[in-house]
Parts: sequence; C-alpha cells; structure tokens
Amino acid sequence: MKVLLHEMSWAEAKEYFTKNTIAILPVGSNEQHGPQNPLGTDHLIAKAIAEETAKRAGVLCLQVIPFGVSSHHKQFWGTIYISPKTFKNYVKETCLALNYYGVRKIVIVNGHGGNLYALMEMARELREKGIFTSVFQWWEAANKLFPDLFKPEERRHAAAEETSLNLALHSHFVDIDRAVDEEPRKHRAQAEGITLPLNTVDYTSSGVFGKSTSASAEKGRVVFEAVVKELVEYVKLLKKTKIEDLMQKPRV
Ligand SMILES: [Zn+2]
Repeated sequence: MKVLLHEMSWAEAKEYFTKNTIAILPVGSNEQHGPQNPLGTDHLIAKAIAEETAKRAGVLCLQVIPFGVSSHHKQFWGTIYISPKTFKNYVKETCLALNYYGVRKIVIVNGHGGNLYALMEMARELREKGIFTSVFQWWEAANKLFPDLFKPEERRHAAAEETSLNLALHSHFVDIDRAVDEEPRKHRAQAEGITLPLNTVDYTSSGVFGKSTSASAEKGRVVFEAVVKELVEYVKLLKKTKIEDLMQKPRV
C-alpha cells in the first residue's frame, strides 16, 4: 500500500481518505547547522522520521514543508526564513485541505524547535474547527528514551546528536572533518530570568552550540529507530482514539 501522498493518484488518495481520518505532516527548516551539516538538516530528519513511521503504521504522509521560523540564524549563509505568521498560515491551510477530504487527526513531525510556538497556536485554532493536531519533536523523545546516550553539550543545535542523525540518514551530506566544538558565548545583557531577542551569531561563530565532533552514525541509528518506534505507537493509539474524545470539552 502506498502511503506517500505525492506518489498516489487521486483515485488512490480517495481510497485512503474514505477509509481513514488520520495523516502525518513533516515540517522543518532550511537553516545553518554548523560547518559540517546540510542546511536541510531539520526538514530532512523530519521527513525521514515521518515517512518511515507512515510506512510502518500504514498512515498517509504528506511532503515535508521545508522552510520554517529561522530568522535567528540568518547571518549564516543559505538560511531561508519565514515569518511565524506566514509559516502558521501555510501549515494551517495545508491541514485544512486535508480536512476537506475528511482528515480529523493530524500528526505534525516537527524538525525545528523554532516552529513550535506557531504550530501550537495553529493546533489550538484547528481544534476549534474539529481537527486534532499533535506535534512530535524527535529530540524530546530521544532525551526521554536515552538520557545518557549524549551529554547535555552534545544535545544542542547542530551538536553531536543532530549530526549523528544526519550521519545515520544521509552521511553523504555531512562533512564531518569540518565539525567543531564551540561553547556558546554569554551575552552581556544575560541575567537570571531574562529572555533576549538574540540571534545565533550572538552566541557562536560556527553555528554549533556545544560539542559536535563526537557524532556517530551508530548512535544516530539508535536514536532514529527508537523515535520512529515511539511515534508508530503514538500514531496507532491516535488512530484508535475516538475523535469525540479529542475535541474541546463543553462549558462546565
Ligand atoms: Zn536542527
């Protein structure tokens, strides 16, 4: 059975939509990930996790939305950034098109943390319209599943964990000889309880936060397999759950 929307004909899509109300949508970003990783890191990883999950769970998967909320990385060349508002509306209209064919449950596989606020704002709006959207972030699942596989300094942006995933999934895009370790700088206006509107370039010169040289394809494969397994279980659970149990409660 085909599960990737772009590979189906409309007749095959009709067959799926008339029997199913669930779909997976990967989203990511095209932004700097240090000198060693491809700009597409976040959307390539999201796509790989989403498509593998879709195949194992027998659930429809859409094409990945590659551009996201990344203006904080813009000083590094090749970062293509979209405003939160435009990103939210684009993803929302994609979800509404799915809903036109009867989809009520959408699992967004988000590869870029910077997209989360926009996605959650959208998910709340969609729930008002009777569509239940959940957001999966692989690194959060990995942190829970393998608290000791990577050190905290290996778990940050473009560091060893993310680089390992790239090595496991598409090593030909990674130039591991260019990997660096860089301790992020502390900004002069930084203080306890303060959040600043800074850019990546304020913190690092390489774009890597922490340690990336310890990346390994082996660890990347362990993480990939585990997060896909976790997501497959979730998708199966969601598939079984009645839509009424996912909708907003009435006034008390
Ligand atoms: Zn990333």
